[in-house]
Amino acid sequence: MMSKAYPNIHKSIPVQVGNVTIGGGAPVVVQSMTDTATADIEKTVNQILALYRAGSEIVRITVNDEAAARAVSQIKEKLLQKGCDVPLVGDFHYNGHRLLHEFPDCARALDKYRINPGNVGFGKKKDTQFAQIIEKAIEYNKPVRIGVNWGSLDQALLAKLMDNNGRLPTPLSAREIMHKALISSALESAKYAESLGLAENKIIISCKVSDVQDLILVYQKLAKECKYPLHLGLTEAGMGIKGIVASSISLGILLQQGIGDTIRVSLTPEPGAPRTNEVKTCLEILQTMGLRAFNPTVSSCPGCGRTTSTFFRELADKIQNYLYTQMPYWKADYPGVENMKVAVMGCVVNGPGESKHANIGISLPGTGEAPIAPVFIDGKKAFTLRGDNIADEFMLIVAQYVKDNYKTINA
Ligand code: SF4
Repeated sequence: MMSKAYPNIHKSIPVQVGNVTIGGGAPVVVQSMTDTATADIEKTVNQILALYRAGSEIVRITVNDEAAARAVSQIKEKLLQKGCDVPLVGDFHYNGHRLLHEFPDCARALDKYRINPGNVGFGKKKDTQFAQIIEKAIEYNKPVRIGVNWGSLDQALLAKLMDNNGRLPTPLSAREIMHKALISSALESAKYAESLGLAENKIIISCKVSDVQDLILVYQKLAKECKYPLHLGLTEAGMGIKGIVASSISLGILLQQGIGDTIRVSLTPEPGAPRTNEVKTCLEILQTMGLRAFNPTVSSCPGCGRTTSTFFRELADKIQNYLYTQMPYWKADYPGVENMKVAVMGCVVNGPGESKHANIGISLPGTGEAPIAPVFIDGKKAFTLRGDNIADEFMLIVAQYVKDNYKTINA
């Protein structure tokens, strides 16, 4: 596992969440959230397993009512029976104080509680209900994420900041006040939690917004002002390519600056698309940036008029899927295989060159080129494939390369 590759301007305190460390220079942790009704134990367990197998290192579930709270310990138990010890986070809004008190099995089974200071309670009840959740976190030795979201920002705090700002000789803009309110809400809540007895190494902070520029500015300020690990995510990122691009840009810029200890990509799933796409996106962000390695990298050219057959695309897709499906087995037997680079190129223009930069690469024949596909291993031409079985033969060569080059210590 690679460590952070860039200067970390934000020195955070490490926080233990189940078997995972967040912050303190630990590798950036990938997390996700289910969208099943938590009370539906079977569906929720299956989705958590899918997210976990896709690479999610922490999974959050909503705990929105008594049925959900009652289900949590059973979900945890069933996951452990299936060999899945992924830490579970309970997402609480409005009634978390009551559910954590009335359902001690739920409070015990969760590995972290998420509280949103904007809707933990209102008026005089806010501090009491917040304190009741912190009391349970202390009792069960659980960390807490204080997760502010601009869609549910503490309105009383925002109004107070607006009033104070109005009295200044040169008032800040409404946008600057909103940023200030997000950060104050998180940090004042953290300070209050500490005053109630929650240790500083039990607190994680997030301030999520859905605008890329606002997210960058807020987290840059937050990183300067606190020592708590930061949970990074663009909230309500949107659907498909839009959500992936917006999340990748905002998270990428912040991670490059050493800001962010754990990430979640909040994609709206396209109809029929798997929930695991949000995990895949997180893995790709971290791997593309060179912060962590999860799977072998496939470089493939976009194709152009020089390669008009669909064979090139099909081969790239086949190789990518082959690597993903082999990884669960290879990971255990061949440590380091996640750093392997494979190139699948469409023609002679860049094919041989790109293939030579990869551990293993294939340059397919473009339209009008001789129907042969040279294969390069560690920069040298090793084979020439031809005929109808190029894809299968290439996969066999890749499998042999893995066996020859990533042997286990005990092999
Ligand atoms: S490698 Fe060949 S097919 Fe691929 S984009 Fe370049 S010129 Fe086109």
